[in-house]
Amino acid sequence: MNLPLTDEQMMIRDMVHEFAHGEIEPYAQEYNTRGEYPAEIIKKLGSLGLFGMMVPEAYGGAAAGAVSYSLALQEIAWACASVAVTLSVTNLCAEPILQFGTEEQKHEFLVPLASGEHVGAFALTEPEAGSDPSSLKTSAVKKGSAYILNGTKQFITNGSFAGVFILIARTSADKNGLSAFLIPAGTRGFHIGKEEKKMGLLASNTVEIILEDCEVPARNMLGKPGMGLKVALEALDSGRIGIASQATGMIRASLHEAVAYASERRQFGRAIIRHQSIGNMIADIAVDCEAAQLLTWSAASLKDRRVPFSREASIAKLFATEAANRSAYKALQVFGGYGYIRDNKIERIYRDARVTTIYEGTSEVQRMVIARETEKGG
Ligand SMILES: Cc1cc2nc3c(=O)[nH]c(=O)nc-3n(C[C@H](O)[C@H](O)[C@H](O)COP(=O)(O)OP(=O)(O)OC[C@H]3O[C@@H](n4cnc5c(N)ncnc54)[C@H](O)[C@@H]3O)c2cc1C
Repeated sequence: MNLPLTDEQMMIRDMVHEFAHGEIEPYAQEYNTRGEYPAEIIKKLGSLGLFGMMVPEAYGGAAAGAVSYSLALQEIAWACASVAVTLSVTNLCAEPILQFGTEEQKHEFLVPLASGEHVGAFALTEPEAGSDPSSLKTSAVKKGSAYILNGTKQFITNGSFAGVFILIARTSADKNGLSAFLIPAGTRGFHIGKEEKKMGLLASNTVEIILEDCEVPARNMLGKPGMGLKVALEALDSGRIGIASQATGMIRASLHEAVAYASERRQFGRAIIRHQSIGNMIADIAVDCEAAQLLTWSAASLKDRRVPFSREASIAKLFATEAANRSAYKALQVFGGYGYIRDNKIERIYRDARVTTIYEGTSEVQRMVIARETEKGG
């Protein structure tokens, strides 16, 4: 589709497109089948500078902007949604450091993320606090010049491989008593728990984190005491553009797979794309694809213009992720029985798409945000 892109944005999209086709797509099925984190691919993404796209040059990034970053994520998700979420969550860790971090924190934690030296993680969810993060229980108690953290975090993407975590914990009992901490991997008392066996995104790592008297220097607090919910919610606003981009890349992949197969496969003496019901499914996926691209671009371009984008990010996330699910459903239907067989890319996309309406705010939570922001006139 023809979006109003700058020469630089088109150049970045084309460069990542080439990389995704040559270096991710041919290996994606293997990594997903083995359920293996694609460390080699992630290293290459780092050397291409993709982890620093939203980071200013002063901290080793490319300052390419939200539209370019969204286009890059779409290309990567086209090839492998697991690789895309690894990148997206690293950015979810990087952007709050840029926004709320001290100079010292930026040099210590942001520079290695931007260079791709390691990936990042964002630990908010707990066993009893998912959609409602204000109810989280992980405690951080001040002791001298440090905080002692205890609790459990659930479903943490990149957890086994991250070099640094943003972790939200409770520093006081009141509803606004949450604070954000930067915790390097390997900190004493910071344990990686069980790895989840998931339905999809099998080449992405999702683990439990257990904190047992984990001592974090007070200088590692990100922002001020009590700012944890603000740090988390603002990170998630940006993160939603990332997940909308991931979902949009998956819709494009569903469309590509469905058109290629329907043009080739013949039944009743003609290519199945010539049967109206199949043509209609392809048309529906194409419409979802264009709409998701436009909404995601709209949210990302507002962000680049420094205009409030919370409502638009939620709209893009809600639409693109629901559309990714219905597109994968229809594309699989186009493949008939062959779509249901492991090793078919559409079978993987179908499973991978499912979680996009759940993480970084469920579709129900997006509707709450959209209704609230719309009421405010946002
Ligand atoms: C693969 C994967 C990766 C993840 N990665 C991360 C990560 O890196 N970091 C992290 O912190 N978390 C991560 N998560 C957690 C994810 O963000 C949560 O699962 C999500 O926010 C939903 O929380 P929950 O699962 O506890 O569901 P719940 O909050 O218990 O919700 C259950 C259902 O109730 C609905 N619901 C809840 N409240 C309301 C309401 N007020 N109105 C209407 N409906 C409501 C929800 O929409 C949902 O349908 C990940 C999850 C998965 C599966």
